[in-house]
Amino acid sequence: MDSDTFPTLVAKRFEGKVAVITGGASGIGASTAKLFARHGAKVVIADIQDDLGSLICKENQDIEFIHCDVSQENDVKNLVDTTMAKYGRLDIMFSNAGIAGIGFTGFEIGTCDINDFKKVIDVNLFGSFLCAKYAARVMIPAKKGSIIFTSSAASVINGETSHAYATSKHAIVGLTKNLCVELGQHGIRVNCISPFAVASPMMTGAFGVDQAKGEEIVHEAANLKGVHLKAEDVADAAVYLGSDESRYISGLNLVVDGGYSTTTPALK
Ligand code: NAD
Repeated sequence: MDSDTFPTLVAKRFEGKVAVITGGASGIGASTAKLFARHGAKVVIADIQDDLGSLICKENQDIEFIHCDVSQENDVKNLVDTTMAKYGRLDIMFSNAGIAGIGFTGFEIGTCDINDFKKVIDVNLFGSFLCAKYAARVMIPAKKGSIIFTSSAASVINGETSHAYATSKHAIVGLTKNLCVELGQHGIRVNCISPFAVASPMMTGAFGVDQAKGEEIVHEAANLKGVHLKAEDVADAAVYLGSDESRYISGLNLVVDGGYSTTTPALK
């Protein structure tokens, strides 16, 4: 490839672009919303935490909040319809909302209740499916777009979380790979990100610890010593997958785990 065909390197990668970020009121989604806005995007965050979502918008005029439960088809349809009515375009769908289910989802198969299992699948998997469905409907006519899901290192490391969570995150990788084939025909890229543990409210809540203790737990478990994985690192991965700098990347599970998943179990 000639050097002049590479995308131009610019400070702001999303000038004029519109992004929807689910689970945008907290943790990885909130960090990504702020970073996307810094890159010039108009960002619509969708979440069930109205207070937190509204607070982020108050602090940043390029971010707005829409209440949306991603497991509800009408909510996701409304999210995309409202975004299109206001901006007339949708360039990036970051389907990131998720629940750990820890606390209500049994860890052992013999005691795991089917309704608890379904709750995790409803949000993590069906929510991702719905976001892709409604994003694709508006991206197909535009013949471009980037859909990014948040999976988890639980898609490549097994036995360290609940069956429901692991299943939902493996399934997101399957959805990514299957969908990239169909949507590639329309110029749309589909990728997912699989982070290792980040001391977000989800993680600290699951462990029942405060932020400082959560970070300590993450650092102790990490493979890459001296580098502390933060929500911002996952946001950087989302910027890459949303931008033209990854214009020929599709069907990728981008694992952001500092090499943790390549370590043999005996060494952990
Ligand atoms: P978080 O709890 O800080 O953020 C998740 C957000 O999703 C919250 O704001 C929550 O209100 C929202 N949400 C939950 N259910 C929803 C629903 N039905 N509809 C809309 N929004 C809903 O946690 P986080 O760590 O930022 O999680 C973001 C994503 O990252 C999740 O998909 C999670 O599975 C994934 N992930 C997290 C970690 C980690 O260690 N924190 C590791 C790997 C993957």
